[in-house]
Amino acid sequence: MNLEDKELKELFKLADEIGNKRYHKLTYQDFENYRKYDYWRYINGDYECGTTQESKDWVKDHSDCYCPICGDNYSTKGGKTIDHKLPRSQYPWLSIEFKNLWVICKFCNQEKGDRHWYNYEHYIFVRYPNLYLAVKAARPSLLLQSVKD
Ligand SMILES: [Zn+2]
Repeated sequence: MNLEDKELKELFKLADEIGNKRYHKLTYQDFENYRKYDYWRYINGDYECGTTQESKDWVKDHSDCYCPICGDNYSTKGGKTIDHKLPRSQYPWLSIEFKNLWVICKFCNQEKGDRHWYNYEHYIFVRYPNLYLAVKAARPSLLLQSVKD
């Protein structure tokens, strides 16, 4: 067994522990993408965005002045952060899926935490009913559909 196979096996094991069931669908390409993404994230940090030109451009292309959830100016809510709509801890294979990423303010990101999307919608509905429609409109329907298969 060569080292690459071993690493791939370890990734599968890790994904199995974290995301269960889905690990068998990972391919070697997923692994390569994951490593690239992990490096990208390492460079950019979990919360801060915009430390490389690549991520600055991405954030700029995917946000304006106002957080899509609370509607406030980012500068009044701790700045811009890159969030995983479906959390990394539950869906590690979606951590490299750019359709799963969006730019929200730091405050909303912390409120969202590691909740599954539907739990998050429920949480918002109960705690911040005035924000519910904005969150519902951002629901990642296709991704949620894909995790049901
Ligand atoms: Zn916000």
